[in-house]
Amino acid sequence: MTLRNYRRRTRNDPGQLALPLEAPPVHSAPRKLGTVAAVVLAWGLSDRLARAEKIGRGYDECLGARVTSSRRAKVSAGVAYIAERRIVLNAALLTPGHEADRDATFLHECAHIIADVRYQRNCRHGAGWRRVMETLGEPAVAHHAIDYLSHAANAVLTWVCVRCGGEYHFVRRPRRQIDECHCRRCGPKLGRLAVRTPFATKR
Ligand SMILES: [Zn+2]
Ligand SMILES: [Zn+2]
Repeated sequence: MTLRNYRRRTRNDPGQLALPLEAPPVHSAPRKLGTVAAVVLAWGLSDRLARAEKIGRGYDECLGARVTSSRRAKVSAGVAYIAERRIVLNAALLTPGHEADRDATFLHECAHIIADVRYQRNCRHGAGWRRVMETLGEPAVAHHAIDYLSHAANAVLTWVCVRCGGEYHFVRRPRRQIDECHCRRCGPKLGRLAVRTPFATKR
């Protein structure tokens, strides 16, 4: 058999498809929003980002970064992939009414790219990043509390302590069994946990 025939045969052989290929869930497909330069124009943020223009190289690189939105993350507002020059925003931020959170998160992630390119290291939320945020006139706050991105708002499961009412939210199904766990505050003897009706906390 020639190699070409062999390939054709195996390709058509149903035995090769014994493992079902699962289609990726639709919600995980990222939506392309364009480059940072295009996004700031669309969202009216050109002037706010341009405050960092004097930084030079980091700013220029940031303008060319690509922006996507994704539904994959439950509680993370945004993330910046520096090496790829890519920003991913939580799709919930693109809901009408969430513009202020969207803009703040977007500029926060832009500051990561600007700072890391400018200082040529992973600045995280350290001095370099804070300096860029100050230049942008943004509050240099590492983590914003956005209620619709909280664990409580996105919980598929919530355990409640029968003693103190303390809540434990899970955005994905936990591997642990409820009777193997106890309330942190009340301890293993008193802190028995009960399942709260799933989705009860979902808005
Ligand atoms: Zn950050
Ligand atoms: Zn408790």
